[in-house]
Amino acid sequence: MQAPDHFRYCILPHDPFLEDVFYVPYWRFRGMHFLCKTSGIDNGLVDKTFLAIENSGLPSSLGLRAQSLKLKFARPGDKTHFLKPTRPFDPSLAAARNTVEYELVRSPETRILRISEDDYDIVPDVRLEIKEERIYHETFLADTVSLIYAPFYVRSEKVYDGVTNDITGALPGAVLDADTVNDDWHVSFLPTLCPNCGWDTISGRDSCIVFCTKCARAWRVTERALVPAEFARMISKVPEGSSDLYLPFWRISVSMTSVKLDSYADFIRFTNIPRVLQPAWENRPFYLWFPAFKTAPSPFLRIAKQFTIANPEEMDDVLPHASVVPVNMPLDDAFDSAKTIIADLTLRKKTFFPTLQDITIEIRESFLVLVPFTDSNNELIQPDMNFSLFKNSIRLGQNI
Ligand SMILES: [Zn+2]
Repeated sequence: MQAPDHFRYCILPHDPFLEDVFYVPYWRFRGMHFLCKTSGIDNGLVDKTFLAIENSGLPSSLGLRAQSLKLKFARPGDKTHFLKPTRPFDPSLAAARNTVEYELVRSPETRILRISEDDYDIVPDVRLEIKEERIYHETFLADTVSLIYAPFYVRSEKVYDGVTNDITGALPGAVLDADTVNDDWHVSFLPTLCPNCGWDTISGRDSCIVFCTKCARAWRVTERALVPAEFARMISKVPEGSSDLYLPFWRISVSMTSVKLDSYADFIRFTNIPRVLQPAWENRPFYLWFPAFKTAPSPFLRIAKQFTIANPEEMDDVLPHASVVPVNMPLDDAFDSAKTIIADLTLRKKTFFPTLQDITIEIRESFLVLVPFTDSNNELIQPDMNFSLFKNSIRLGQNI
């Protein structure tokens, strides 16, 4: 299911029979969030709403409503008025405010005090220090923008909130005189049948690559059609047929200003990871690995780091018969985290972080790789890399 710009939802008024409802647009921005800061890498989820019309006494955000109330697809109808957004979405609203913060840190210590000619006492004291916390780099990942319409109505010259029935600070003209939308908001449907053989492809709700097991092909989902996509399968010591599940990854070779990352040896030298450099690594190509499936931010970073360090090499092009976790982290989205992952990998953080904002990094070549995992209680195990992952983190990722 696709929308030409963004999906539009609405919150229903408390009274389902309420007439002359004015739906006020709010931008909703959600996604994963990474910050490279003096103290290390922070991650989290962002879910914020911003009033999409000029501020006129209406609440500037929806607070927790977008998460806690049921949302329906918005459809213009009789006796409802959908106000036209007059403020474009501004991504900087969601960004961290200050790039430098100072914090006064009090650390207890003791002091020696001379109390007489030849007597000393030890007294407790507090040392004050200013700690600088600088944000060097900020990234949003798998971020989406949608519009949420919230209901308001006018009675006796006052504007009421249609959910709580509270009076707002807005003047009636703010909603009565506002431009309304009368476009046809269409949502289009793209059939997920294999363009080659007509068989049903295997796909998830938000897949960006789908697979046909009948003719063993992969297809990339675009706005109008499915187009051929390439993939590879990691060759593993897991015997053929005994893998329970494959997870998709983006394997990307990059070019980066200021740092040469062509070979695996370059990577070890740059990050200073404690490994003994082997001569063969000078010719072993280096790739960044990113999950091509959604997970919570912290496992996303951990998986990307460990796969990048492991850099598995042996591949073939066989489409596995086991199930594949839906590819719902598009290449460009995953790649947005490249600087964060490199920053997290390097042990030279102090010198590297300040250079982050001047660095540009580009994709040289990318590939989708399916990696076999085996199922063990609550975990998925990748025995070749000695890597495990809680099944929960994939399930949680589906709601991002
Ligand atoms: Zn097919």
